[in-house]
Amino acid sequence: MLTPSLPDKLYPWQLAADNGRLTGDLALDKLPRLMALMNPANGVVSIDLSAGKNGQGLPFITGCLRTEVELTCQRCLGSLRWPLEVAVRLGLVRTEAEAARLPDDYEPLLASPDCAMSVADLVEDELLLALPQIPRHADQRECEAHGYGAPDPAFIAEQRRPFGLLASLLPDSKRSC
Ligand SMILES: [Zn+2]
Repeated sequence: MLTPSLPDKLYPWQLAADNGRLTGDLALDKLPRLMALMNPANGVVSIDLSAGKNGQGLPFITGCLRTEVELTCQRCLGSLRWPLEVAVRLGLVRTEAEAARLPDDYEPLLASPDCAMSVADLVEDELLLALPQIPRHADQRECEAHGYGAPDPAFIAEQRRPFGLLASLLPDSKRSC
């Protein structure tokens, strides 16, 4: 079976009107804001999104993004493989007033009817929102295997700084196009 190629641009309203799907793999190195926060990686994000209208006539884009990124553990500073599986649940709105009326289980995607949106930007926003603020190995024994002992607090603070960037890289709470 042929895998449909992922387009660069997405027309959210058109996709919803067509009950369209958006599936495929996107290389992580196409996502510069995300790459700034992680160790170099050659992975991909698997995208599986479907669009349509729900029972109330609300146009939506929902689905899942899956990838694995390599972060720096903030306890031992060792590398940390971090699987990300992000549920996407966007409701399309034209105005902020419509966004305010959106059911709580949808995030607003503010877009004009003819807007074309970068698929990479949309995917990157969702992944950034799903990243842990302070990634750490789940089991401290893994940190000890990376040489974790008594950390020098100044060193930890220095290493943490890249993650301080996360806040500045996150999308605005209201997406727009
Ligand atoms: Zn660790």
